[in-house]
Amino acid sequence: MKTALSKTIRQIDVMIAPWVLSAVKELNAFNTYLFHALFIDKAELSKGIADPQQQVTVDVFRQFITYHKENGFTFVSPDEVLRGLSPDKKYIMVTFDDGYYNNLRALPVLEEFNVPALFFISANHVRYNKAFWWDVAYREGKKARMTDDAILAEKEHLLTLTDVEIDTYLTNKYGPGCLKPIGDTDRPFTPSELHTFSQHPLVYIGNHTCDHAVLTNYDAEGIKEQISKAQEIIEDMVGYRPETIAYPCGEFNDTVLQVCKQEGIKLGITVHHAKNFSPQLYDSKNLLTLNRFTIWGDQDVKNQCDFYRSDYHMFDKVKEVYTKLKAKI
Ligand SMILES: [Zn+2]
Repeated sequence: MKTALSKTIRQIDVMIAPWVLSAVKELNAFNTYLFHALFIDKAELSKGIADPQQQVTVDVFRQFITYHKENGFTFVSPDEVLRGLSPDKKYIMVTFDDGYYNNLRALPVLEEFNVPALFFISANHVRYNKAFWWDVAYREGKKARMTDDAILAEKEHLLTLTDVEIDTYLTNKYGPGCLKPIGDTDRPFTPSELHTFSQHPLVYIGNHTCDHAVLTNYDAEGIKEQISKAQEIIEDMVGYRPETIAYPCGEFNDTVLQVCKQEGIKLGITVHHAKNFSPQLYDSKNLLTLNRFTIWGDQDVKNQCDFYRSDYHMFDKVKEVYTKLKAKI
């Protein structure tokens, strides 16, 4: 569908979500949510050091947790998901991708509400104190006075490459030092920080590949190396082999799923925006392709959560009709 029309219908869906929630009983489901960097406040966000991404501050994160506590959700750890969830409750799992040191800022909130969270680690970024490529592209692009559209277009191009190709592209353009983090805003955990963090009872650690590899850009050998090596490196750092994975950028294929099974990974998460319903939850293939929502810090938290919880979206209906009509033409 045309982007402007899709956007308008989505905006209407967000507007009517509170009404839908009060009129139509919410279906019990297991919802997972994705966070990346956690910024102290808007001032840190606007420094240009790191890609603002979803622009989530600690305050936005606290609002998100409070909302779900007030609306009867049970927060679960990956271990509880793997032991099996009851179809009679509404569940939620909090996840953070990449391995940013700034994720430490989530801990006081998690402790305050006694909420577990799953942190997916890009292993070599931690091992080598390497900046994440999207932060480098953003920071250096801004310095070079590129427009936001040009930075976005460059990021979209980089998403189609392997980690080695991305590093070559960035170092050729901005020099060999560009992959060094600037400070606590953009750096990953150090291995010893990650070790200490992982010992916290509310913290669970998962695989996010060795080099934040968009796995569908790799051949079978590359996929195996990215997943299996990350299992080893993470085990070295935290003392156990992850049973969970978040596919970078949500991309996976049959080879990826096969390698995950071989590696003893039981729970895999994408970035497909949808709820997870039982009984599909109990099919092992579905557990490796779980859906996940994303929260944006520049939009109202309640509106977004209402929208995700609502089981009626005009957008889906219009899309269905549009697809049928298109097939007939
Ligand atoms: Zn990621």
